[in-house]
Amino acid sequence: MSLAFAPIRSSVPAVVGARLTVPLVTGELVPYANLDHAASAPCLEQVRDAVDELLPWYASVHRGAGFASQVCTRIYEQARHAVRRFVGARQTDAVVFTRNTTDSLNLLARSLPKGTSVFVFDTDHHAALLPWRGPRVNRLQTPATPAEAVRVLDEALKAAPVGPRLVVITGASNVTGEVWPVNDLVRCAHSHGARTVLDAAQLAPHRPVDASTAEVDYVVLSGHKLYAPFGAGALVGRSDWLQQAEPYLIGGGATRNVVDWGDHLGVSWSKVPERHEAGSPNVVGVHALAVACGVLARQRWEDVKAHEEKLFAQLKDGLATVPGFRELTLFGEEAPDRVGVVSFTVDGHDAGLLAAILSAEYGIGVRDGAFCAHIATKRLLSTSGAEGGRALRISLGLGNNAEHVSRVVGALRRIVADGP
Ligand code: PLP
Repeated sequence: MSLAFAPIRSSVPAVVGARLTVPLVTGELVPYANLDHAASAPCLEQVRDAVDELLPWYASVHRGAGFASQVCTRIYEQARHAVRRFVGARQTDAVVFTRNTTDSLNLLARSLPKGTSVFVFDTDHHAALLPWRGPRVNRLQTPATPAEAVRVLDEALKAAPVGPRLVVITGASNVTGEVWPVNDLVRCAHSHGARTVLDAAQLAPHRPVDASTAEVDYVVLSGHKLYAPFGAGALVGRSDWLQQAEPYLIGGGATRNVVDWGDHLGVSWSKVPERHEAGSPNVVGVHALAVACGVLARQRWEDVKAHEEKLFAQLKDGLATVPGFRELTLFGEEAPDRVGVVSFTVDGHDAGLLAAILSAEYGIGVRDGAFCAHIATKRLLSTSGAEGGRALRISLGLGNNAEHVSRVVGALRRIVADGP
C-alpha cells in the first residue's frame, strides 16, 4: 500500500525563508524559528517573484524616455492605486511613498498647518509619539481600558484651543498586540473637528485596515512589516495639508521649475505626491509593497486571522506553563481584538539573556528590550511587578507554524528549569 500523502495546502500565502537553517553555539545547524514578525516580517513568495521579474527592468522613475524607464514609471504610479485600495482610502487621497512608517509620520508632522494641536497617547511607539513639535502637543495618559482611551481623548479635545487638530491613533500595539478602539477614537476626534492619523504598522499585516479606516484622515504603514522587505512605506490621506507644506526633502522630482534670478534661485515646487518624494524613487521597494498589498487584499482575512489565532492560543497556553511568566497587557480582556504579539518577563531571568540563549542554543529569533515604546513598556513592566526595564517579545505571522511555537515554549521551560 502506498503511503503517499497529499501535500498540505496552506490557506495563507507562503513566505520565503521557511527552510532557513542557523548555527547554534555548538556549531549544529537547526531550522530557524523567526518569532519576530513585529520587527520585520519575512518576504511573501509572491513578492519575491514580482521583484525578480522587475529587476531586469528597473530604471529611473519619472526621469527617462527609454522603455525601461516608462515601465518603471508606470509600475510606480500603479502602486499608488494598490496601496490606496488596500487601506480603503478615498479616491482623492494622496499616496506619498516614503521609507517606512517613521518617515511617513515625520512627513505628516512637518506638514501640519501652523498652530495645529496634536493629541498622542504616551504609550505609542516612538515613531508616533516623538515627531510632533511645539507647545500644542498633548500627551495623553496611558488608559487602562479602551473606553478610558476615548474618555481621555474627549476631555483633552474639549479643553483644546480652537484651530487645526490631529489625533494620532495606533492600530495595534507593537508591545502587547492589543488592537486599539480605532473607530471610537476616530468618531470622538471628528466630533471635535480633529483629523486622525492611523499608525497601521502593526495592524495592516494582520487585519484588513480598510475596516478601520472608513473615516480616518491619514494612514501610515511600512512595507517591511507587511511581508515586503525593500525599504518602502506610505503616507495615505488628505492632500490639502501636504500640498501647502514645504517639500519634505529638497531636490529633483520635488521641483517643477528652477530659474536663475541672479541673486537667488526661483523654485516652484511640484504638487503632491511628487512634492514630498524628492530624489530617485525606490521603485523596487514600492513595487514590493504594492504586490504585498495586492496579495493580502485578495487573501481571505479570516484565514490569516484563524492561522494566527490558533498559533497565538497555543503560544499563550504554553507560556502560561513557564514558571515565573508575567505577561504585559494594557487592556487585558477588554481589548477589542489582539494580533499575535506577546511581551513578557520571566521572574529571576534577564530578558536580554533569555533572548540571547534562545538564539544561540535553540535557533529561535525573538526580541528583547523596550521595543521603541519606552514609556509603554516601562509602565507595563512596573504594573506587572516585573524586575528590570526590559521584556521579551514573541510576535507571530504568516511565517510561523505550530512547531515554532512548541519549540519556543519548550526552550523557555528548559532554560527556567536549568535555573538563572
Ligand atoms: N509604529 C508601530 C506600532 C511600530 O511597531 C513600528 C515599528 O516597530 C513603527 C511605528 C515604526 O515602523 P518603521 O520602523 O518601519 O518606521
